[in-house]
Amino acid sequence: MNILNTNYDLLPGSYLFSTIAKKIKEYQGTHENADIIRLGIGDVTSPIIPAVIEAMHKAVNEMGVKWTFRGYGPEQGYDFLREAIIRGEYTSRGIDIDPDDVFVSDGSKCDVANIQELFSADAKIAIPDPVYPVYLDSNVMAGRAGTLQADGHFSEVTYLASTAENNFQPDLPKNPVQLIYLCSPNNPTGTVLSRETLQKFVDYANETGAIILFDGAYNCYIRDENLPHSIYEIPGARTCAIEFRSFSKTAGFTGVRCAYTIVPHELGKLRSMWNRRQCTKFNGVSYVTQRAAEAIYTPEGWEQTKAVISGYMETATMIRKELSSCGYTVFGGEHAPYIWWKLPDGEKSFDFFDRLLATCEVVGTPGSGFGPCGEGYFRLTAFGDHEQTKVALQRIKERL
Ligand SMILES: *Cc1c(COP(=O)(O)O)cnc(C)c1O
Repeated sequence: MNILNTNYDLLPGSYLFSTIAKKIKEYQGTHENADIIRLGIGDVTSPIIPAVIEAMHKAVNEMGVKWTFRGYGPEQGYDFLREAIIRGEYTSRGIDIDPDDVFVSDGSKCDVANIQELFSADAKIAIPDPVYPVYLDSNVMAGRAGTLQADGHFSEVTYLASTAENNFQPDLPKNPVQLIYLCSPNNPTGTVLSRETLQKFVDYANETGAIILFDGAYNCYIRDENLPHSIYEIPGARTCAIEFRSFSKTAGFTGVRCAYTIVPHELGKLRSMWNRRQCTKFNGVSYVTQRAAEAIYTPEGWEQTKAVISGYMETATMIRKELSSCGYTVFGGEHAPYIWWKLPDGEKSFDFFDRLLATCEVVGTPGSGFGPCGEGYFRLTAFGDHEQTKVALQRIKERL
């Protein structure tokens, strides 16, 4: 008897970033004086803002005093943070969310990976292509994706192609699905789903009984106030959509760990199932971390947070501008820290990775790692040091 979950055997090779790390290591092994600039990182680099650090110090001190010490907190998060999130993120955009519908967690990666266990094993899923790999992989592990075909698609998954041809606004699924993942602003394309596109998906979900799993990890990077920041800006979304948000990219919490998921009470049983799931398998985010997250929403915290994001977006603007001036076609980078570079002459994205490393000693991420439709594209991020990024762009201009 095989006691292991054989669905794990269906997962595609090694994780994208470990493949890349291996290639870089090999290059360094043969080029002693390599001066590699990394524009592939999907991690923030700016330090935590002072307002947050101050709140953390204060909370740490409270933990050392008998009267203010805290042990286990509520699994759903402390009220002070749930209410700060609603005020700072939703009320401010005219969206009414009940504090009981906010579930604080230690990361959106776990939330988007865990949510699928609320659904039946034969529920059919649709995922954007290309997209953050966690949605697909978590469903492969659960046995919901079928098997990997020669063309790079899983047999039971509906792919929502998002390419330059459809302006990164995917069509509705062609065959019936019960779960629809959406990510806007999208990682890796850096593009935003329009109000019309979201309305189309919400209407489809309400008509068919499907559930939308909306990942808004980059909502704070949206510069245009008229673009939808939350799925709940779309009429009808409360009866069909769950929203995931994270402080990771918003406030440099990739190492601190704090996020939240909104499951509106209009979703009925799903909300109580998520509550039950979290109460059984999760024991809450540390008090210090939740005080840290709360401080983002103070006036100083918000100003400082916006300043860091503006810094990354200046880098994004520079990347866009420089690559465009070299005659390349680029997408994203206007409302997200990602630039999606269309490779000329149909070059394969992994071949381009090798060429860029060899000629410019610049590292990015091959688009095909995010789904079959990512082939022929390359992701650069604006999270790197501004001056270093400038040097990288100069090299691209001169040597590529
Ligand atoms: C970075 C990222 C997240 C956030 O993950 P955390 O676990 O909160 O750090 C979620 N979704 C996408 C698309 C991301 O790129």
